Amino acid sequence: MSYPQTRAVHAGRDDFAELGVHAPPIDLSTTYPVRDLDQGTASFDALVGGAAEAANPIYARLFNPTVARFERALAELEGTSDAVAFASGMAATTACLLAARQRGSHVLAVRPLYGTHDHLLESGLLGLPVRWTEADAIGDEIRADTALVIIETPSNPTLDLIDIAAVVAAAGEVPVMVDSTFATPVLQQPASLGAQLVLHSATKFLGGHGDVIAGVVACDGEWASALRQVRAATGGLLHPLGAYLLHRGLPTLALRVERAQENATELARRLGAHGAVRKVFYPSLGTVRNAHLAGTQMSGPGTMVSFELEGGHAAAAALMRRVRIATPAVSLGSVDTLIQHPAGLTHRVLDERTREHHGITPGLVRLSVGIEAVEDLWADLDQALRA
Ligand SMILES: *Cc1c(COP(=O)(O)O)cnc(C)c1O
Repeated sequence: MSYPQTRAVHAGRDDFAELGVHAPPIDLSTTYPVRDLDQGTASFDALVGGAAEAANPIYARLFNPTVARFERALAELEGTSDAVAFASGMAATTACLLAARQRGSHVLAVRPLYGTHDHLLESGLLGLPVRWTEADAIGDEIRADTALVIIETPSNPTLDLIDIAAVVAAAGEVPVMVDSTFATPVLQQPASLGAQLVLHSATKFLGGHGDVIAGVVACDGEWASALRQVRAATGGLLHPLGAYLLHRGLPTLALRVERAQENATELARRLGAHGAVRKVFYPSLGTVRNAHLAGTQMSGPGTMVSFELEGGHAAAAALMRRVRIATPAVSLGSVDTLIQHPAGLTHRVLDERTREHHGITPGLVRLSVGIEAVEDLWADLDQALRA
């Protein structure tokens, strides 16, 4: 299975023949009978110690086969040996930070990040202070006791791209975590560029239908073991029904992303020529930092478009009231189009100066383009912008 489209359809299904099933079974057990106590003790020790599986699952906080199937599928799509799933993207990030704590004294991170990532790092809640830097200054800022480098590409909401391979080279021995939520494994595979941790808010494109909150980290076996230990101890579990829905969505991931990307490319082009729009942020228009990486690091420009309105905050508020097909809502990556106002919602936690510095102006609107017919989406946006 050399093509990602084929892998997406078949990944995580290799035990089906043996089980005699055609769809993934959902195992809702919270506990499992332990009739052979010695085997149970050995399994317990293995799972608490971070093993991927054991002869007996023991307890659902330690192992669940439905979740494990989704994890194997995602690892296969990202080209890593392992993946570990969590209750949300934030639970996944929390586990990465807790696992990284043993490696150093602080995190080096590049803004802008997903708003709650920014908030979590700034809060110091997890005992790992953050130092903010620019992507091209990582080589100067890295210290022997830096625990982790965190980047997000494409970035939220301005869609700047960061050269992952260059960051990995600059970080040297320090592991790099890439939040690849906006790209999905369809458009980029950060592990192939040397990133140790590939994070997804699976709530977004992986789920794709707006009905699951989840997170997942693709990584090597050593990191996976550390993350499973944190998950077993802190309990940020993905429920098996959520894992089932995520696994069910993976076969259409490439179709969804490719169609949304086609729509986004066309909408970005038309928005760029619209009188109510001051600036469009989209890689194929060349209006974001490192736009040239769309086509190399990323196989295409992606499905997210941000644009700044001439009329500022008032125009953005009016647009939210007037759209009919697009839903004014936070989140992204669903089959339906979502539109939101970063300064008023997702990036509210940043102070105004930091927002402005990163282009998150009062007139900025972020569009998560869905798979609807592009002419309907355009007609909707056009009438809402015109009014
Ligand atoms: C949504 C999101 C997160 C957080 O994920 P949750 O599933 O909401 O906890 C992290 N990073 C990015 C880029 C996101 O869009």
